[in-house]
Amino acid sequence: MNYCSNCGAPVTSKIPPDDDRPRFVCDACQTVHYQNPKIVVGCIPEREDAVLLCRRAIKPRYGFWTLPAGFLENGETTIEGVRRETFEEAHATIEIISLYTVFDFPHINQVYMMFRSRLIDFDYEGGSESIEVKLFQEQDIPWDRIAFVPIYETLKLFFKDRRNGNYSLRLGAIASAESSEDEHRRKVSYFKE
Ligand code: ZN
Repeated sequence: MNYCSNCGAPVTSKIPPDDDRPRFVCDACQTVHYQNPKIVVGCIPEREDAVLLCRRAIKPRYGFWTLPAGFLENGETTIEGVRRETFEEAHATIEIISLYTVFDFPHINQVYMMFRSRLIDFDYEGGSESIEVKLFQEQDIPWDRIAFVPIYETLKLFFKDRRNGNYSLRLGAIASAESSEDEHRRKVSYFKE
């Protein structure tokens, strides 16, 4: 950040009084600009033993497969965000079942919240951000072509839980990777009480 979004004057990174970390502070109006993590919401659209995946038509990870997910918008609830992203990317209508995985991504300041959902019908197709949208059974999932670690982990947990007939909420933290080529080598640690 270079300029104040309140008055347009330059900002300086400094620790405000009574704070414990640097913030962008406006040199003119003294507004402190707090920067906080962004929330990504998405879902696993389930239909019997298959899940709906989207093949990305946008960077990053163009051509890789993912679950419908994207940044939550201001003024939107998480559920509304999930429905919107699922419609935008797959033109699919879903019924939300429950929150299923939460992944902290501290090195890029993101939190993923993935929900289980029921795919209502087969009336789906790729939106502008998807090359194609397709239902996959577990054995057909392109595991080496999954776009992002939280998506990969959510799918792995889902099929494991499905076999055991017991789904529980997971909280994981994802470590940084050396480069985007190392996407799948990121370490995930799960919170346990
Ligand atoms: Zn200002």
